Amino acid sequence: MRELSGEPVSSGIAIGEVFLFRQIDLNALGATKFNIDDTIKEIARLESAIVKALEQLKGIIDRENHPADVSAIFQVQLQMLKDAGFLGEIKSIVNAQKANIEYVLSNQIKILESKFRSIENEVLRTRFLDIQDVYYRILRNSLEIEHVRANPLKRVRSPVIFVAEKLLPSDIALLDHSKLRGIILEEGSSVSHVAIITKALGIPAIIKISGISSLLRAHDTVIIDAIKGKVIINPTNPVRASYEKLEKTYSRAAYPKSDRTTIAECLTTDGIAVALEANVGSIKETREAIANGAAGIGLLRTEIFYMSCAAMPSVQEEFDYYAEILALAQNRPVTIRLLDVGADKNVPYLKWYNEENPQMGIRGIRFLLRNEEVLRKHLQSIARASRLGRVKVAIPFVSTLADVSRTLDIMADVCAQEGVERSAFRVGIMVEIPAAALSLKHFWPSIDFVTIGTNDLVQYTFAASREDGNVEEYRQAAHPAILAMIKECIASARRRKKEISLCGEMASDPAIAPLLIGLGIRSLSMQPASIPLVCEAINRHSSEDLETLAKNALESANI
Ligand code: PEP
Ligand code: MG
Repeated sequence: MRELSGEPVSSGIAIGEVFLFRQIDLNALGATKFNIDDTIKEIARLESAIVKALEQLKGIIDRENHPADVSAIFQVQLQMLKDAGFLGEIKSIVNAQKANIEYVLSNQIKILESKFRSIENEVLRTRFLDIQDVYYRILRNSLEIEHVRANPLKRVRSPVIFVAEKLLPSDIALLDHSKLRGIILEEGSSVSHVAIITKALGIPAIIKISGISSLLRAHDTVIIDAIKGKVIINPTNPVRASYEKLEKTYSRAAYPKSDRTTIAECLTTDGIAVALEANVGSIKETREAIANGAAGIGLLRTEIFYMSCAAMPSVQEEFDYYAEILALAQNRPVTIRLLDVGADKNVPYLKWYNEENPQMGIRGIRFLLRNEEVLRKHLQSIARASRLGRVKVAIPFVSTLADVSRTLDIMADVCAQEGVERSAFRVGIMVEIPAAALSLKHFWPSIDFVTIGTNDLVQYTFAASREDGNVEEYRQAAHPAILAMIKECIASARRRKKEISLCGEMASDPAIAPLLIGLGIRSLSMQPASIPLVCEAINRHSSEDLETLAKNALESANI
């Protein structure tokens, strides 16, 4: 038995067999050269990896119903694999260097990557990506590793503890959730989308246990204690038995009945009322939110619903999902955020943009405006659902007024088609890009409310990716730069008598949330489980104390 510590990002207990998902570590492979005497045998290994690659590509082309341009990409790759020159080049390197094929292939990929950076011609760049993809495919075959797209869990019969170095949200979308008992990652961060999605799906997850993949063997038994932040490898029988009990108790507690009708009363000691709403991504989380006294759903992450669908949901299916959430909300307001896909959140059946720097690319509203048919369908379901409750719509990833105006035009059009008054729901924007925060006054005439998304606002202000655990020290949510931006947004909303709330993870932290009240905000949206804790923290202070706290934090030179 062995115990390791990590950071729990989706609480719960999970016990199960390990499934090790190894991704390719180019640096490690490229630095590990084995001297090969029998190059004929090594080349035979290469050839069999190529034969397998040919079969896979043919299979993809035959089986999958791709649009013509996508099929053409795989055809090009197929031709490349058949090209004698391509194979010849790799063979000659293996022969000349007497090196193992993994060493040769990974270094070829690295060389390609460095060349790729200097190419400006779009067609050539695409060609390079194709070549690289082919190299990766051969490498995966020689290492007998599967790509997450190949559904690595397909042969798994009962749910497993999925262990990987890192995982993108889009990878999680591709995995069969019914086979995931828990997730352990070597990397990651608590504000990463992976963390948010595992929480919404109710999959216990723990991150930042570096090196765990090397300590584990396939079929080891592992316990995830994502309450205390522990992973126990091959537990003794008594430890396992006590965790089995805990697992049952916990899963009962985690599925509360949603018959609570009261809203948590959050008041400062001098009677200033604060609305505590919840961020949710699933029906389960909505139940949890209501049971914890949420005043409403301040953020419904619709992309999580899309990620849980195997194919594009129909308008009716999507409407049914909102209908269930609105029924649970019992006439509390529900802020439906338009699909925030793109960057690290790809949905397998939606268009994917191969971008240099996806976090700064076609994400959120930028994606939707480029895929208008998706936006229109999405808005149709929302417009229909607006008849069932107090719907608000938030536009994600807003940086320009032009994007908001175009969205509003399309929204008006869809509402007219659906016979729904456009004024049936209020429309607002997510302020999560500094450009929007700093020019908010120009947005007010077009919108009814703002919700500040500090997870992204912090990432873009500090140039520190929220997916990257290595730059955690730079993501300072309570930094004066962020607080000053929030304060100015609140003042701007007050001047216009408009609603403003904050839905980034900092609102879930009982140590930080009171500070936000001191800045003047009166509505927060957070993880459902944080509502009672944040409520208690705010209830203890007077608004004057909180203003002083905020003033000091704004002036702090401890940066
Ligand atoms: C945010 O950016 O703070 C936010 C709430 O949105 P998400 O975490 O879904 O990007
Ligand atoms: Mg965001």
